[in-house]
Amino acid sequence: MPQILNNALEAVGNTPLIRLDKVAKLHGLKCNLLGKVEFMSAGGSVKDRIAKAMVEAAEKEGKLVPGKSVVIEPTSGNTGIGLAMACAIKGYSVIITLPNKMSLEKEAALRALGAEVVRTPTEAAWDSPQSHIGIARKLQKEIPYGIILDQYGNINNPLAHEITTGPEIIEAVKSTPSTSSRVSSQKVDVVVCGAGTGGTISGISRAMKKTHNKDCIVVGVDPDGSILAIPSSLNRKTEGDAYVVEGIGYDFIPDVLSRDPTDIDEWIKTNDTEAFDAVQALMRNEGLLVGGSSGSALSGTLKWLKRRKDIAETLGLNVVVILPDGIRNYMSKDWFLSRALHGEPTPLAQAIARVLQEP
Ligand code: PMP
Repeated sequence: MPQILNNALEAVGNTPLIRLDKVAKLHGLKCNLLGKVEFMSAGGSVKDRIAKAMVEAAEKEGKLVPGKSVVIEPTSGNTGIGLAMACAIKGYSVIITLPNKMSLEKEAALRALGAEVVRTPTEAAWDSPQSHIGIARKLQKEIPYGIILDQYGNINNPLAHEITTGPEIIEAVKSTPSTSSRVSSQKVDVVVCGAGTGGTISGISRAMKKTHNKDCIVVGVDPDGSILAIPSSLNRKTEGDAYVVEGIGYDFIPDVLSRDPTDIDEWIKTNDTEAFDAVQALMRNEGLLVGGSSGSALSGTLKWLKRRKDIAETLGLNVVVILPDGIRNYMSKDWFLSRALHGEPTPLAQAIARVLQEP
């Protein structure tokens, strides 16, 4: 890699794989627990990769005209931030349609990057004209040079992960030697990943199973309220319930989410409370300032490993958790502030209070 990058797009991806040793120890795991830390990408999330890939592919196909094209995209925010970053650099206008539940921080980042943001009702079904998808389509019809790159159907979404995210994980695991104090199979044995569009999990799975370890177990994480998990009986109890966590879960099956049972071996459901508690655990124990869906992925992993003692208790197996974005996107959210500012006073806080009470 050259030392001087030409622009921020060259700082997309190439994120670190970091040991989550303290969390692993707290849960009695003998396997290696490894986090793929995507907030360290230039735009702050795993979705930078697909934004860059979709824009570059559209350019190659002659679909984008600098100074004229208006990129319109329905997103939960992170794809929008990646697109707004790419388009700021390349000279295209951007309109992002964003459900109301998505954080103000995402809207602020989008507007800071020069995008227009249109909020849409969270409760609108995906195929309603009022949803973020419906409004994007309406705008595209009316706005000259409007184009929807369509992360839900664009093959460059899963492909970006098959070509970049997956191989980066494989390379990191293969090239880290096994030592007596850090035993490693030097294979990726398990990957756990949340799904929104499903591009991340589908692409990573293909990279693992086609090129690295056909026996790698890929576990999908789906929030209570969403319908992406298989078998669908897993979804039945909570289908349609609202969930606060952003970026994962849907009320329809996106085309890019693989339904091939050999790609995604198993699904696990998670709820908001366990996800947000897991975010706090990643911050306090590992110093990682991750976002809400990272907590879903970690809590899903820990639940799954409780069932799979054969894996949890085997020294050297590598279990990789995808941590999609960072806390930058959620700093004003109650779930974060209630834990960061208003949690139980620590012994040290109590000691400080005692000192300050002394005359
Ligand atoms: N977490 C966050 C915070 C996201 O923004 C997204 C993208 N919607 C995901 C997870 C899921 O990624 P994918 O769309 O590739 O399934």
